[in-house]
Amino acid sequence: MANGLPNPPAALLTAATARSLLDSVDAFLFDCDGVIWKGDELIEGVPETLDLLRNMGKKLVFVTNNSRKSRRQYSKKFKALGVEVAEEEIFTSSFAAAMFLKLNNFSPEKKVYVVGEDGILEELRLAGFEGFGGPEDGKKNILLEANFYFEHDKSVGAVIVGLDQYFNYYKMQYASLCIRENPGCLFIATNRDPTGHMTSTQEWPGAGTMVAAVSCSVQKEPIVVGKPSSFLMDFLLKSFNLETSRMCMVGDRLDTDILFGQNTGCKTLLVLSGVTTLPELQDGSNSIHPDHYTNSVYDLVGLLQQ
Ligand SMILES: [Mg+2]
Repeated sequence: MANGLPNPPAALLTAATARSLLDSVDAFLFDCDGVIWKGDELIEGVPETLDLLRNMGKKLVFVTNNSRKSRRQYSKKFKALGVEVAEEEIFTSSFAAAMFLKLNNFSPEKKVYVVGEDGILEELRLAGFEGFGGPEDGKKNILLEANFYFEHDKSVGAVIVGLDQYFNYYKMQYASLCIRENPGCLFIATNRDPTGHMTSTQEWPGAGTMVAAVSCSVQKEPIVVGKPSSFLMDFLLKSFNLETSRMCMVGDRLDTDILFGQNTGCKTLLVLSGVTTLPELQDGSNSIHPDHYTNSVYDLVGLLQQ
């Protein structure tokens, strides 16, 4: 939506619109899963595309809702895939969750319960907070026997829920008790993606499914720090000297990436190399229209050379 009017249907990127897009932006924000890689496989032409944009003087920022890794771990993943990306250019929802606590003066005396993986625990540690739960609690089982009483730590002041391949009933109860019984306990979601390409071959349930389980139990809505929430963008703007009107968000999801771009005033480019298909984009029930769409980021190289 712009000026209260619905956006016109997305237009296929052409050589002319690619050139004017490049002229009108100083920075590109890239989603990662489905744009840069699928699981652990790099999408074709990504290194050439990033090189071209860097050579044209564009600032590149990588914004992922996947909280399984920290910024440091993502930087290593880029390197392993043959792409040089600095830690400072990466904004993950795990980092955003830790920064949310920091910016809101969360007391380092309080603990953070994590339904999620190492990425969140590492970002909490780096920000000076004590997190626990995570993969370790994935090994804990519950037996619902008569008179069983579940103890939880009363000093937990925030629960962060993100993508968690070790998700179980123990964690659901731990998180629920903290949110329900610890006065003022924050309920933070890294994101609410329903699905994601966790492997290169399939879609899997996203962090939104774990968030929904906890949210249903406590009957409360979480604070979302990843896309499409503007928290990440506000933080990003503070970190770099950028203007959202001179930025382009490139993503494969309408409900997170493109909505995030539109919510924050960026230009938007949908790539069809991830979860969104052309029929889904063009379906009458879809109300999220990016400015442009194209098959993959590599198209930029071809179009700009025409
Ligand atoms: Mg994606």
